[in-house]
Amino acid sequence: MKKQEVVIIGAGLVGSLLSIYMSKKGHAVTIYERRNDMRTETVEAGRSINLALSDRGIKALKEVGIIDDILGIAIPMHGRYIHTAEGIHAFQPYGKTGEFINSVSRYELNCRLMDLAEHHGVSIKFNHKCEDIDWQKNEITFHVGQDELPVVPFSLCFAADGAFSAARLAHMLHHNKFDYNQYYIDCGYKELSIPAGENNSFLLEKNALHIWPRKDYMLIALPNTDGSFTGTLFFPFEGPLSFERLTTKEAVTSFFKTTFPDVVDIIPDLADQFFNNPTSSLVTVKCFPWIRDGKFCLIGDAAHAIVPFFGQGMNAGFEDCSILNTLMDLHGDDWETILSTFQKLRKPDGDAIADLAVNNFVEMRAKTADPNFLLQKKIESK
Ligand code: FAD
Repeated sequence: MKKQEVVIIGAGLVGSLLSIYMSKKGHAVTIYERRNDMRTETVEAGRSINLALSDRGIKALKEVGIIDDILGIAIPMHGRYIHTAEGIHAFQPYGKTGEFINSVSRYELNCRLMDLAEHHGVSIKFNHKCEDIDWQKNEITFHVGQDELPVVPFSLCFAADGAFSAARLAHMLHHNKFDYNQYYIDCGYKELSIPAGENNSFLLEKNALHIWPRKDYMLIALPNTDGSFTGTLFFPFEGPLSFERLTTKEAVTSFFKTTFPDVVDIIPDLADQFFNNPTSSLVTVKCFPWIRDGKFCLIGDAAHAIVPFFGQGMNAGFEDCSILNTLMDLHGDDWETILSTFQKLRKPDGDAIADLAVNNFVEMRAKTADPNFLLQKKIESK
C-alpha cells in the first residue's frame, strides 16, 4: 500500500480512532482539532459526560488494541433499571445470556484514543478550526488564533468534525447535487450530576442504566467509576411542562419533588445545577454524498448525526472506522473504490440507525413504564 499523507479534521472520538487505524496502515496522519488539548487544559465540556459503549464500538477498539484499557475504566450495565412514577422499581435485563453495555467517560475515552494515536506517530494540531476547503486547489483553510489563517494542502482528507461539520458545509456549498436533511426533535437535554455517597459508594444500583420514564419526557442516569452518576433530563423545550416554564429554583425543586421524588434527595444542589448547566438540542443529520473524487470523506457524526436514544452515535462512528479498515485491506491504494464502497455500505446503515434512534425515544420515555411491559419483563427475567 502506498504511503499517504492523510489529513483528519477533528480529534473527537471518531477522528482519533480513525487516525490510529490509518497510522497502523503506515500512512502519515495529521489531525487538525478546533479545541485546546483536553489532556493539558480545561476545555469547554463536551456533549454527554459518559457514553454507552456496545459491541460495534468494542469490535473497533479491539482491532486497534485498546479495548482492555477502555474496559478497565468502564462500568458494565446489565439492563435498564426503571423507576416508575408510582414508585415501582423494575430491572429489565438487556439479554437472556448476560449481555451488557458499558458506561465509559467521554473524556477518558477521548484522551486515551489521542494518547494511542500519538504513540503511533499521529500529529495532532490543536486550536486549528477548519474554515473552508478549496476543492480545485485541494487546500484547507484553518483559523488559528487572531487573523492567522494557515492553508494546508491535502491529497486525502477525512472530515470527523462532528454533527455541525464545517468540512461538510464546504463540501455541500460546492456540490451541485448535495442532499441535506437536518431535523431537531422538540425535546432538549440537560445533564445533572448525582454525586457519590460515602467512600465513593453508588447511591443507585451500580450496574444498570437508570430510566425514570414519564411518558412525554424522561430522566436517565449512567454510572461513573467514582461512584457518581450522570443524569440527563430529556424534556420539551416549550409547552405547559417544559424548560421554558421552569424558570425559578422553587419551580425546579417542586417539579422534581413531584415527578422524580427518589432523585431529589440524592442531588443536594439540584436547582443550582439546573440553572448552571446548559440546555442543549438534539439533531439528526442525513446527507449525501459523503465522498468526493477519491480524496475526501465524511465520517462519524459529520456523516450521520443521530439522537442518543439508542446509545449508538459513537458506536456507529467506530464501526465506520472498522469498515473503512477492512476496505483498505481489500482495495489497497484504490481510494476511489475504498471511499465509494464505504459510502455505499454505510449510508443505508446510517439512515437506519438514525430512524431507530428517534423511535427509541418513545420506547424509553413511555413504553418502559407500561405496566404490561413491566410485567412481561418480570416474567421473562424469572
Ligand atoms: P464529535 O465527538 O462531535 O467530535 C468532533 C470533533 O471535531 C471535536 O473534537 C470538535 O472539537 C472537532 N471540530 C468541530 N468542528 C471543527 C472544525 N471546524 N475544525 C476542526 N475541528 C473541529 N453515542 C454512543 O455511541 N453512545 C452513547 O451513549 C451516546 N450518548 C450520547 C448522549 C448525548 C446527550 C449526545 C448528545 C450524544 C451521545 N452519543 C452517544 C453520540 C456521540 O456523542 C457521537 O456520536 C460521537 O461523539 C461522534 O463522534 P465524532 O468524533 O464523529 O464527533
